[in-house]
Amino acid sequence: MTPGRFTARGLVFLFNGNSVPMKKVNDSGSIDNLVVVFGDQLSCRNAVFQKIDKNRDAVWMAEVDAEAEFVWSHKARIAVFLSAMRHFRDKLLEKGYRVFYTEIEDEENHGNLENELLAALRRLKPDKVVCSQPGEWRIQRLLESACKQTRIPYEIRPDSHFLCSLEEFEHHCEDRKELRMEYFYREMRKRTGLLMKDEKPVGGEWNYDKQNRESFGSEGPQDLPLPLSFEPDKITDEVIQIVKRRFRDYPGSLKNFDWPVSRKQAQKALRDFLRNRLRLFGDYQDAMWTDEPFLYHSLLSSSLNLKLLDSLEVVQSAEEEYSKGRAGITAVEGFIRQIIGWREYVRGVYWRFMPDYIDGNALEADFSLPAFYWTANTDMRCLHEVIQQTLEYSYAHHIQRLMVTGLFALLLGVSPREVHKWYLAIYVDAVEWVELPNTLGMSQYADGGIMASKPYAASGKYIQRMSNYCRQCRYEPSKRAGERACPYSTLYWDFLARNEKRLSENRRMTLQLKNLQNLDRIELKDIRKEADRIRSQLT
Ligand code: FAD
Ligand code: SF4
Repeated sequence: MTPGRFTARGLVFLFNGNSVPMKKVNDSGSIDNLVVVFGDQLSCRNAVFQKIDKNRDAVWMAEVDAEAEFVWSHKARIAVFLSAMRHFRDKLLEKGYRVFYTEIEDEENHGNLENELLAALRRLKPDKVVCSQPGEWRIQRLLESACKQTRIPYEIRPDSHFLCSLEEFEHHCEDRKELRMEYFYREMRKRTGLLMKDEKPVGGEWNYDKQNRESFGSEGPQDLPLPLSFEPDKITDEVIQIVKRRFRDYPGSLKNFDWPVSRKQAQKALRDFLRNRLRLFGDYQDAMWTDEPFLYHSLLSSSLNLKLLDSLEVVQSAEEEYSKGRAGITAVEGFIRQIIGWREYVRGVYWRFMPDYIDGNALEADFSLPAFYWTANTDMRCLHEVIQQTLEYSYAHHIQRLMVTGLFALLLGVSPREVHKWYLAIYVDAVEWVELPNTLGMSQYADGGIMASKPYAASGKYIQRMSNYCRQCRYEPSKRAGERACPYSTLYWDFLARNEKRLSENRRMTLQLKNLQNLDRIELKDIRKEADRIRSQLT
């Protein structure tokens, strides 16, 4: 019998490896607190586990189809969640917790989280439900609704995985006309003491971003250290078979699946990054190269988001690399900034502005997402490379997401909701609290400037500077109209012209708009015609 799950014979749970009939639980009235653990809360170190009574309390977890179907998810994204959840369940059982667990293929699976939770609450009748703050607004509402419907009191505890509580973020926002990550980041450095000496930033600067923009020379990256690969174990193998069977028509491949799915593996992945890639992480953070999807990136986002790793342990161990002289300040500061800066900041933005945030469309973009985002079938080399890699690995690094796939959607004028659904579906680390502000705010400027002080709009020349993609492309980044014009360069000027009025009050857009005004009117007319042609071909 599968441990702790609903079966055709009714609900069973497992305690110290033994399944016990459901009836006995109710008869003894033995569940004081039912600890609800969602798929991205896989940490025994979280506050909900701190005062748990292994005899009187129990843990509830469920795999449901709806979470994979909510957006048309990459197979690897589904597999990473299911496998990590099952590994976590087994860890809890090993530690002696009582666990109620529904597997995705169980006959009585209700298919979606709300119904599954409602059914469990009705059967188990715990005195109270306890949960760590869900990552997603929708899930928090669903939890509250299930508890209200069953009249079971519930307590949502702060998620101790994050270094900045939502209250502290609100406090940071008080009396500020606009939010900027940099000021938040400095506060976080002071609060955590990371890379600080005598209350001053180590090295004298808060931010070494300008030194983090190297591209590879014409020879490209040399002797790249391959990230550690985690061969699927029995649990992951089983999950992979389920995903192949159940989500056969879903996008992406499982051929390369080797993501960490347990805390032990995630810790190994962290050590591997610190030892082999952190040193050059800063220099080449923004660079891109054909057939090199990982470069010096950490690949830790899914482990962090599933809570297999704690953000504090990650940043402290990076700081140690600096203090022991094994990595320089530009690399270590750049890495720490991503985690205590950007990652904590986007979470704050998400919770401060949801639920309205998701409807943002400041540039009134309404074009459909081109079909090639699901197939990589395009002659634009940069997009082909990044999407192909995404379908193969469910991974792309930040600049590939922001300045290749995101930039094209922005320039084309794709509906931000559609762009959001694609990013939420396609990456192994995708969870809404971090994906949405990055997509809708940073990448699409759909929040009107909450996340970014101006749109990340650029022509094909940016991609040419940061990668070798253009060398193998039939288009030319310097051409903005005509047969070989790079679609990014055409659409860049069209974007500025279309949004000129909207962006004219943004001081940070002055130079770009001045360049637009200096553009020959006849050429601009040709460019806009070309942009219309591109759009009509993509409809
Ligand atoms: P590294 O480059 O090694 O960076 C280290 C860590 O810093 C990451 O693991 C991540 O936890 C954190 N980080 C870096 N940049 C950001 C950022 N902008 N916001 C939040 N955390 C950051 N990240 C996700 O975790 N989930 C998402 O769904 C997601 N969607 C994105 C969508 C778009 C359009 C963009 C532009 C970015 C998105 N990001 C997302 C942020 C970032 O691209 C990924 O965190 C990063 O590429 C993951 O790869 P890595 O672990 O190798 O990161
Ligand atoms: Fe992409 Fe344009 Fe470069 Fe081709 S020329 S790879 S479309 S930026």
